[in-house]
Amino acid sequence: MSDNRVAIVTGAARGIGAATAVRLGREGFAVAVCDLDEAACAGTVEQIGGDGGKAIAVGVDVSDAAQVSAAVARVAAELGPPVVLVNNAGVTRDNLLFKMTDDDWDTVMAVHLRGSFLMSRAAQEHMTKAGWGRIVNLSSVSALGNRGQVNYSAAKAGLQGFTKTLAIELGKFGVTANAIAPGFIATEMTAATAARVGVEWEDFKAAAAKEIPVRRVGVPEDIAGTVAFLVSDDASFVSGQVIYVAGGPRA
Ligand code: NAP
Repeated sequence: MSDNRVAIVTGAARGIGAATAVRLGREGFAVAVCDLDEAACAGTVEQIGGDGGKAIAVGVDVSDAAQVSAAVARVAAELGPPVVLVNNAGVTRDNLLFKMTDDDWDTVMAVHLRGSFLMSRAAQEHMTKAGWGRIVNLSSVSALGNRGQVNYSAAKAGLQGFTKTLAIELGKFGVTANAIAPGFIATEMTAATAARVGVEWEDFKAAAAKEIPVRRVGVPEDIAGTVAFLVSDDASFVSGQVIYVAGGPRA
């Protein structure tokens, strides 16, 4: 384990990112809570502080190269060089292929793929210098194909190849890279899907739970716990893997 325990979590104002930032705070990491809107990160930062941890809010659009370099430089200056990066920021722009707009496609690619690329490229400099690092990318069961998500499933499958290549390139510097592919996790993202298809949130979750082998939907802490394992020394020989965290082999 690096002596310098600084982690960056993107999309950490809420949902899976917030739960992950809080968990990493409890694991002893100083956490850069990154999201589009810096003010929206306040709740997560306060929660980490309340646990006795250290955190800062960082406003950054992960798809913007200049903002990413500035954000990672700020983290290094204020908390120390980051050695953990969780690429979690995400958006959906669901539609069937024939109705999908150029913007729906480009936005999803920009946040998930370009965002993870820019953040990883900026952060690896600090990890390789430290000789220790952990990159965790948020994929999805949608990588296996999901109606109405040709953009999102392509991005999430792309992140799996991205992760495996990071693992190959960065392993000799003590840096591992892994992907987590969540199934249905109850967050604002899935609540927005329920609202879009006109199904009550509780009914939407109950219907999903029926199809999941463990008979419940996931919660953000399910993913945060898997991240905590992947960034630990126990996982130092685990790299280039995709871990499906979906209550079954897939959702
Ligand atoms: P969420 O509640 O929608 O949170 C995503 C966060 O990412 C939001 O705070 C959002 O900010 C932020 N974000 C969006 N675009 C950004 C950008 N360009 N730069 C920085 N931050 C940005 O989503 P979630 O459900 O927690 O999902 C987290 C990750 O897990 C995503 O990558 C998602 O694809 C993946 N995942 C989720 C599920 C699930 O069932 N929930 C399943 C599989 C995979 P704004 O609110 O300002 O847009």
